[in-house]
Amino acid sequence: MIKLLGLVSVALIALAGCVAVPDEPEPDVVEVVPPPPPEPEIVEPEPPGFDLSLYSIDDPNSLWVVVNKLRPLTPIDFAPADLVAPNVPAAFDPLMRKEASDALEQMYAEASEAGVPFRIQSSYRSYTTQQRVKANSVSRLGQEASDQRSARAGYSEHQTGLAVDLTTPSGRCTLDACFANTPEGEWLAANAWRFGFILRYLEGRSDIHGYVFEPWHFRYVGPELAEEIHLQGNPTLEELFGLGPAPTYVDAPTGGAPSPSDPAPDPPTDQAPLPGRDDAGEPDFPDDPD
Ligand SMILES: [Zn+2]
Repeated sequence: MIKLLGLVSVALIALAGCVAVPDEPEPDVVEVVPPPPPEPEIVEPEPPGFDLSLYSIDDPNSLWVVVNKLRPLTPIDFAPADLVAPNVPAAFDPLMRKEASDALEQMYAEASEAGVPFRIQSSYRSYTTQQRVKANSVSRLGQEASDQRSARAGYSEHQTGLAVDLTTPSGRCTLDACFANTPEGEWLAANAWRFGFILRYLEGRSDIHGYVFEPWHFRYVGPELAEEIHLQGNPTLEELFGLGPAPTYVDAPTGGAPSPSDPAPDPPTDQAPLPGRDDAGEPDFPDDPD
């Protein structure tokens, strides 16, 4: 009997170990409330339009410099420091600023692929070259008549190293309005903007830019501004930058007709003679009939 009681006791003790102990109270769960989402940052939209103040229109070294009959280069005998010879056919050794020259070579390559390779008629002209051409012209015609035929030294875009006159390989329509209707002229008018060039002296706006329609005269302004001008429907530089019209020189008699900015060429010949060269190594452009 005692033995039985002992067994029961052992069993009870063993069972006691199995008695469920009440769980300890669970710690309070702190409910984490996510912070409200931050207010979306208000981003001011980019102001519409093109930043026309990005580069100077006064600095002669700027790709955007505006030169016309009321805006001479400053200094008036400015000469660019980075002139190079573009590898494009010409009757002389042409010079242009490096960036413009590179762009012209690209444009020439694409024009050639399109079957309309062009030729350079005139590119950089120094102050002294233009001065000599102009002096001859004035002595022959007088100031007033001469101003209706060619630009004064210091007032020509060609002096910036950013302007180039282009023509056909045969010389047909050289420095003539009929260049606009040649395959080369039509291709250039449609495509030059892609290479950073604009047609500077547009038809019907002579009272603003001051020159006759010159479908051969292309001015390098860089691809960004050329695209903007293309998108805006080809305003003149004067209109784009909000400058006044520049139909003639400030001391010129009123009512003067716009004049060509480029000396008229000699009649094209099969074998165009190479112009002579002056001491500065520049072509001596023919000044007759200018
Ligand atoms: Zn020109």
